[in-house]
Amino acid sequence: MSVLVYTENWNSKFRKSTFEAITYAYDLSKKLNTNLIACTSGKIDEHELKKAGKYGASKIYLIKNTKKAQGKEISDSIANLPENFSHIIFSHTHTAKVLAPRLSIKLNASLVSNVIGLAEETNPIKVKRNAFSSKAIQTVILNNEKSILCISPNSYMVKENPINIEIESIIDNSESKITVKDQEKSSGKISLSEADIIVSAGRGLKGPENWTMIEELADLLGAATACSKPVSDIGWRPHSEHVGQTGITVSPNLYIAIGISGAIQHLAGVNSSKTIVAINTDPEAPFFKAADYGIVGDAFKVVPELLNELKKQIN
Ligand SMILES: Cc1cc2nc3c(=O)[nH]c(=O)nc-3n(C[C@H](O)[C@H](O)[C@H](O)COP(=O)(O)OP(=O)(O)OC[C@H]3O[C@@H](n4cnc5c(N)ncnc54)[C@H](O)[C@@H]3O)c2cc1C
Repeated sequence: MSVLVYTENWNSKFRKSTFEAITYAYDLSKKLNTNLIACTSGKIDEHELKKAGKYGASKIYLIKNTKKAQGKEISDSIANLPENFSHIIFSHTHTAKVLAPRLSIKLNASLVSNVIGLAEETNPIKVKRNAFSSKAIQTVILNNEKSILCISPNSYMVKENPINIEIESIIDNSESKITVKDQEKSSGKISLSEADIIVSAGRGLKGPENWTMIEELADLLGAATACSKPVSDIGWRPHSEHVGQTGITVSPNLYIAIGISGAIQHLAGVNSSKTIVAINTDPEAPFFKAADYGIVGDAFKVVPELLNELKKQIN
């Protein structure tokens, strides 16, 4: 039985985390001595689909939804693919949260989220995952014949394993009972869940007019911007930037927190960042306990100085 990887796309392009998921799935298929197949859905052209082959998928199914299919219909199509597969790999994104639990029920498969390493053993599958908002690492054993592993973004090294890929289309005519009335696309240039660097700010910034310096810093660093929950609740920033327990979970290489206290609910979404830098006027701010580097200082002085230094480095 093959390993199947769901290759998520956005605006007809594979996401960066998709290549991480394919690499992981390829390495797992080698451990299991089997082949890797992929599937995706939506509008995506052949040139893009072939990229899955660069990372080791020998075949990709494109599920073409003729009507407005949603999670239920897409997961039905995946479960009914004309292929036998024992394990499904997702990147642990919002899409995975919609599709993976449905597939787990349909296929009677064990489901594990936030996976951070390749299976140490394969019969049964034994993997490590982040638990308790990344405060602990669990080792879990999956006892079902089928399993679904959702890989924490930025936790597995992307590698190329080029192979000739076959493309097969599957037409799905099913229509969802849910109608999407409106859709607001996030304005950020870089997707938060895939960003290497995130510049995030909180209520310490005093008002939305002060985000110019945050955006400038993010631009210079090639970073995405994020914020704490109250900042998006009061409308200073869009909800798509809210990170934390009730927002997006991120795991960049560098997370810069400016004027954010570091409440447990905020830390829950940023704990697995590789390096955390906190800038806060209050030396007792909880963020300093979670940070690798801390600057006790006023954001309105520290950030402009940082900008000046960065501009000097760049010029
Ligand atoms: C069920 C539940 C879920 C929640 N989920 C989330 C979540 O997902 N994400 C989230 O973020 N929060 C969440 N919260 C809210 C969370 O508890 C905090 O209230 C929130 O994170 C605080 O936001 P903040 O740090 O921006 O604001 P504040 O707590 O007001 O902190 C502002 C910080 O800025 C510092 N500061 C002030 N002026 C300056 C300056 N000039 N320069 C530098 N620093 C300065 C202050 O010292 C302070 O530490 C949740 C709460 C609950 C109850």
